[in-house]
Amino acid sequence: MSPRSRYTSLVFLILLFVRGTVEARNISPTVHQVTASAQGLSVNGYIVEGRHGLVVVDSALTVSDTKALRARVDALGKPLLAILLTHGHPDHYNGVSGLVKERPSPVPVFATAAVARVIRTDDAAKQRQWQPVFGAEWPSERTFPDHEVRDGQKMTFDGMTFVVHELGPSESHADSYWELLGPERAAFVGDQVLNGSHAYTNDGHTAAWLAHLERLSRELGAVKRIYPGHGPVGDASLFTWEKQYLTAYRTEVEALRAGARQLSEPQKKALIARMKSAYPTLTNDFMIALGADTVATELATAHENPTL
Ligand SMILES: [Zn+2]
Repeated sequence: MSPRSRYTSLVFLILLFVRGTVEARNISPTVHQVTASAQGLSVNGYIVEGRHGLVVVDSALTVSDTKALRARVDALGKPLLAILLTHGHPDHYNGVSGLVKERPSPVPVFATAAVARVIRTDDAAKQRQWQPVFGAEWPSERTFPDHEVRDGQKMTFDGMTFVVHELGPSESHADSYWELLGPERAAFVGDQVLNGSHAYTNDGHTAAWLAHLERLSRELGAVKRIYPGHGPVGDASLFTWEKQYLTAYRTEVEALRAGARQLSEPQKKALIARMKSAYPTLTNDFMIALGADTVATELATAHENPTL
């Protein structure tokens, strides 16, 4: 090979290397949505796949669904670098133990201080309430967050940068969402959106939830990939849909409660009938009556204390 052609080959190789590096930087992580069984409330666990490692956002409720999620994680053949939690309901954190056990190195679990506190405080009561219902499907061990993050804190794993945003009480007693930065910005919004499902309103913060949905529409209006806690992925129109659902639910409870702080059994039956007629295709019907008294009390309290 002449010196000139050697020089040309060298330049060509350098150009290839530079192009490869630029392309590598622009590759967006792949997000795998793993949806649980109906018994596991069809909750979504998300595996965010980088070039060399994985980050999981939320997990699963039951033992079987956790095994299925772990199988998907392990099939990718890359180390699990971290687990991020959006809020402290068991359908999102029960599966953490099954994901982190028997790993070559410990897997850190991140949440805001408020989310971590709700999990620590409420876990035993949730177990008492739901283990009899789920039996052996309720995991005997639960793992709590061991790394607390501040509102706005950035975390980078394998070149993938996430930012946590604190929301406060809404669908649960403490909610947050995780934004994934990069050329294709995305957000994991937990149960701010239950797409295609009736809403869980039993923590009694539906007014704050509506305000957070307004905020999310503003902050994430341009984001094309909104990953909800339940149901299919969508864009920011999911927030509008959830707002309409919650408004309809609150309007029906308000009309039925007739000034009382609770609904009678016939009133609950009427609520179920009205919500099912307005939203015939949604799953998790049992949630309609579950939150009825709590929302009636929330609405009555707001009437009694209009300045709250
Ligand atoms: Zn959920």
